[in-house]
Amino acid sequence: MSNETKKLTTASGRPYFENENTQSAGPRGPLLLQDYILHEKMAHFNRERIPERVVHAKGSGAFGTFTVTHDITKYTKAKLFSKIGNQCQVLLRFSTVGGEKGSADTERDPRGFAVKFYTEDGNWDLVGNNTPVFFVKDPKKFSDFIHTQKRDPRTNCKSATMMWDFWSLNPESLHQVLLLMSDRGTPFSYRHLNGYGSHTFSLINADNERVYVKFHFKTQQGIKNFTDQEAGEMRGKDPDHAQRDLVEAIDRGDFPRWTMKIQVMTEQQAREFRFNPFDLTKIWPHAEYPLIDVGVLELNEVPNNYFAQVEQAAFAPAHIVDGIGYSPDKMLQGRLLSYPDAHRYRLGANYEQIPVNRCPFAVNNYQRDGAMRVDGNGGSAPNYWPNSFDNIVADPSYKEPGLTLESTLADWYDRNAPGEDDHYTQPGWFYTKALNDTDRVNLIHNIIASMKGIEGPKKDEIINRQLCHFFRANIQLGLAIAQGLGTDISAFMPGTPVQATKA
Ligand code: NDP
Repeated sequence: MSNETKKLTTASGRPYFENENTQSAGPRGPLLLQDYILHEKMAHFNRERIPERVVHAKGSGAFGTFTVTHDITKYTKAKLFSKIGNQCQVLLRFSTVGGEKGSADTERDPRGFAVKFYTEDGNWDLVGNNTPVFFVKDPKKFSDFIHTQKRDPRTNCKSATMMWDFWSLNPESLHQVLLLMSDRGTPFSYRHLNGYGSHTFSLINADNERVYVKFHFKTQQGIKNFTDQEAGEMRGKDPDHAQRDLVEAIDRGDFPRWTMKIQVMTEQQAREFRFNPFDLTKIWPHAEYPLIDVGVLELNEVPNNYFAQVEQAAFAPAHIVDGIGYSPDKMLQGRLLSYPDAHRYRLGANYEQIPVNRCPFAVNNYQRDGAMRVDGNGGSAPNYWPNSFDNIVADPSYKEPGLTLESTLADWYDRNAPGEDDHYTQPGWFYTKALNDTDRVNLIHNIIASMKGIEGPKKDEIINRQLCHFFRANIQLGLAIAQGLGTDISAFMPGTPVQATKA
């Protein structure tokens, strides 16, 4: 910080002689209406809060670099990936999902993993989570689902009944529910988790050929989680544990890094894959679609102003660059609308001009005016297109290849067609392949602890419905949870008179 003396001024720049005593009629008052400094301070203070994000409200961010370490030019013509050694600046924002801006970092929740790559072809946002899947596969269900993660309308408390009621009625949630209820639902810090683009995107190469892609960011710090009990203790001890951990690590020069990898699927493979490759509740098995190294992301700079650079950061999956495309993933398609819409509500129509969101390279278009237009508004240049005065061109070389549609039928009722309604195979894999014995014990413990919070007249109905899902994913898993909840499991295993033990 500079030692140079600066004059105290009003927001309009008028130097002012003091900042503690309001002008008054005599030393004991009353106050004079003309003390504009008082009005300015009070009025600005009243307007300090902007709407918090409806999801991912509590977050932490850091700047850093992304460096390309491997050649993937056969898949993409994105300039960023055109040469090994290419680098760009990044902003990475981590977050919890359901809690408010003041909630604890160690809540059981997915963690947001949103990266903004400031590339010469525009800002590319990859807005994912620390899980490769999500709770729903159609955006029409999203707001209903999120309501169950927020507060009960009457008690204003979080409600296990709401959550498990929704999940039990939406078997497609099971995969993500298991991930959430495992110890990965309570990561030790933001440095110790993987990030996933989660959606299927596409890559387009110089020959205009498309492949589908999943993005993975593997933590080089190693996965480290809290147990349920440790997370609960940390909630009381330091609700900002993950924020503090991130700032302290970067401040001491211990820069966290992630290796970016991709899985690639050809259009032909996508047609033949036994699961819907665009279903956000499913993964692509590593053995069939191996991880391919791409680059390294390093965080090395703590933003010097949280509000300006993290609270005002606006990520949107719609922000892609040449060589990267969308996919038919229904959740992605929904988010293409909802994220920019949320930013326009929260930050205003000109949110892309806020310095942290601004593309550091050329931006040329005919959008003008609107609240908080702060970039000169295009000056005297034409504000319409086409025109005879400027030389801005729409370059056809950026055109994406056409997409072959699988169906020309607008049929929204057939969403659980064969192959679409298998909500159990992959959750079963998660239980048997991904978890070790300790993980399984903790998963079962965490589910039982959470489901014991289900209450009210529908309690048994909800529990039984959810148990059916666990049984269908894995019998041992279902049995262990049923026993822990003290449920009579003979109903699930006709002809097997097993007496459940009370937990
Ligand atoms: P593999 O059998 O090849 O490997 C399992 C993967 O699960 C690991 O590579 C690891 O991925 C992840 N994993 C390991 N331990 C845990 C844990 N305690 N909690 C959560 N995830 C863990 O995987 P498949 O590709 O055949 O998929 C099997 C199951 O693994 C899936 O159904 C899914 O539930 C889970 N999984 C799969 C991922 C994928 O993209 N294929 C990614 C993450 C989980 P990672 O290093 O990415 O954490």
